[in-house]
Amino acid sequence: MNNLKITGKSSNKNVGILFIATGRYIVFWKEFYEACEKFFLPDCNKVYFLFTDNNGFAYENNPNVYKVQQDNLGWPYNTLMRFDMFLKIQDKLKLMDYLYFINGTMLPVREINSEIFPTKEQGLMVTLHPGFYKRNRLEYTYDKNPQSTAYIPENEGEFYFMGGFNGGTSESFLEMSRELSKNIHQDLENNIVALWHDESHLNHYMLDKSPLILTPMYGYPEGVPFNKENLKGFENSYKMFIKDKNNPKYGGVNYLRGMSVFDRTIMGRAFKSLNITRKQF
Ligand code: UDP
Repeated sequence: MNNLKITGKSSNKNVGILFIATGRYIVFWKEFYEACEKFFLPDCNKVYFLFTDNNGFAYENNPNVYKVQQDNLGWPYNTLMRFDMFLKIQDKLKLMDYLYFINGTMLPVREINSEIFPTKEQGLMVTLHPGFYKRNRLEYTYDKNPQSTAYIPENEGEFYFMGGFNGGTSESFLEMSRELSKNIHQDLENNIVALWHDESHLNHYMLDKSPLILTPMYGYPEGVPFNKENLKGFENSYKMFIKDKNNPKYGGVNYLRGMSVFDRTIMGRAFKSLNITRKQF
């Protein structure tokens, strides 16, 4: 659909789902759309804002699918520059009551309802990262570079949130997008990319906020999860899971991100020199 149409009852909440699928990530779209239609806020009027450079994808002509033409920016810019992507269509996003960003690799499997709506005072909703749930805050992979606008000092920060599922009232979400876009551009001018890209900036933004906080019930990792012990209790009840990108059926993480052997070598060296283990999910 190229014209934005909000269909459904006028008494229902209007919810915009922000989904980025540039390059090979379009592989996740069909199943995601089907699962969201069934399980994600079934009583709301949903519009899927699909940011992609692909054509001819499933459900392209459905009235609640709004395609936003988005160039494939390469890794890590496809994820880092997400706030710029959202701001480009902010006049459309403002028409929604709530906005939710969901990673391409996530899939709802049980019904998710109004429990994910923050109050007006909270404004935003974030999800605890499953890899750091109930762990010591000293293990959190906050950005530790004082030159970055995402920097979090050693003694600050209570939680570690995932970049993959967050949202809120459209007003608060767009306000956050403006601030984080500004910070990311400032970093880029200084040749800095925060450690975990948008996720590092999100965590920094939340330092002085009081958002609605969801547990990994809304982001349970597929496969054998790192931090398994602390995730006990969620394994049979999670409402949304994170697909294992290393599963051969998706082609593996580097294939998905369209990375060349050269990119991988450079990234591997950078991780090694920083003594960082590659993110598993
Ligand atoms: N993404 C994309 N194309 C890419 C790389 C990333 O569309 O080539 C989008 C996609 O929505 C993905 C999100 O950016 O889910 C975050 O990417 P990241 O690798 O951080 O997380 P993933 O979901 O792959 O675990």
